[in-house]
Amino acid sequence: MTDSSESTRTPDVHINLNIRGMKPSATVSINEHSNKLLAEGRNIYKLGLGQSPFPVPEPVVDELKANAYQKDYLPVKGLKLLRDAVADYHRRGEGLGCTGDDVLIGPGSKELMFILQLVYYGDLVIPAPAWVSYAPQAKIIGRNVNFIPTDAEHDWMLTPEQLDEHCNEDEGRPRVMILNYPSNPTGRTYTPTELEAIAKVAKKHKLVILSDEIYGELHHEGAHVSIARYYPKGTIISAGLSKWCGAGGWRLGTFTFPRELRWLLDAMASVASETYTSTSAPIQYAAVRAFRGGPEIERYLWRSRKVLHALGNWIADKLNDAAIRTLKPQGGFYLFPDFTPFAELLEDRGIKTSAQLCNKLLEEAGVAILPGSDFGRPKDELTARLAYVDFDGARAIALLENQGDDTELGDDFVFTHCPNVVNAINAICEWVKA
Ligand code: GLU
Repeated sequence: MTDSSESTRTPDVHINLNIRGMKPSATVSINEHSNKLLAEGRNIYKLGLGQSPFPVPEPVVDELKANAYQKDYLPVKGLKLLRDAVADYHRRGEGLGCTGDDVLIGPGSKELMFILQLVYYGDLVIPAPAWVSYAPQAKIIGRNVNFIPTDAEHDWMLTPEQLDEHCNEDEGRPRVMILNYPSNPTGRTYTPTELEAIAKVAKKHKLVILSDEIYGELHHEGAHVSIARYYPKGTIISAGLSKWCGAGGWRLGTFTFPRELRWLLDAMASVASETYTSTSAPIQYAAVRAFRGGPEIERYLWRSRKVLHALGNWIADKLNDAAIRTLKPQGGFYLFPDFTPFAELLEDRGIKTSAQLCNKLLEEAGVAILPGSDFGRPKDELTARLAYVDFDGARAIALLENQGDDTELGDDFVFTHCPNVVNAINAICEWVKA
């Protein structure tokens, strides 16, 4: 017999208060919504989800094939070979003194970020705009989230003065700050001098920095530098295969800790052992090949960066020509256009928020982008994130296969190889003025 009082309860009250009313992540939702519209026969330009357009490099795919038979659970902290390869990768790139013991492997850096916030008892500090999932993760766990708003004048970057001011408000409070560069959503990154200055403030206030460098290898000049160089004892580097290796769906993330934070790594591993147990075995074996690098991988990265640089710059120029304020990208595959110059025109069309702007743009012009409000910006600021990934990455890099290092990709390349992106940008420029 069913209990009648049970059946009259609204399901909502059985949901943890921190999660009640929560919607699926903006990036995941826009992708599923765009796919649904496409399946219904609509012509949709997918500049919503930030998914790499490039194929996984061939040697890494071959390694996955060769390891398909790996069926055992691996150690919770990760395959030793892979932990060593990741440590070696950071030693090569950043000159850090880490070893495999400092590395934690997870099923995507997103999951590792969640576990870090669960384990570390402190506030979350994030310069905004910031990726859509940092703050919701903190909310699920019940951590305080403190956004430090940045502005277009400072290229949407955090200044050391802002950070110092923020920390001085409540000195000595335990805090994790997530610093993401090259940035999702702006495509901008910090210079070594800027990183050094931020590191100095972070050290003064004993912050833990989670340095989200998932787009590091996609720095358009191949010149990414980690803040860990300047604050080695307080920085955890977050990386993974999703962006530079085109393997988002493989779900492989890495955290590299300083020796001083080994207690945090160990505590996270305990949670991991009670939740996901260990990361997919074949994927970890394949990832060893990716992190070991070598000429073939370098060539793949060089080609990817060239394409992203050419396309990102073309878009920024085109949007700026149309008076949609957009900073040129320095890394990754995002831009953060600001439609404020059209505020009055848009208001006449009933558009007052970035969410309304993106909804109408999708409905009327078929272009999917995400509102600035999903990235921690004020609702009525007319900013948005555009992921310039709707093109055939395999075809685009194939063109560069036998080209010399000084090859310049011009407008012709963009028109020939990225027609969806070109059409989408033209559609945005026309739509905003309509
Ligand atoms: N990082 C990607 C984005 O910002 C997608 C992956 C995700 O959000 O989980 O679009």
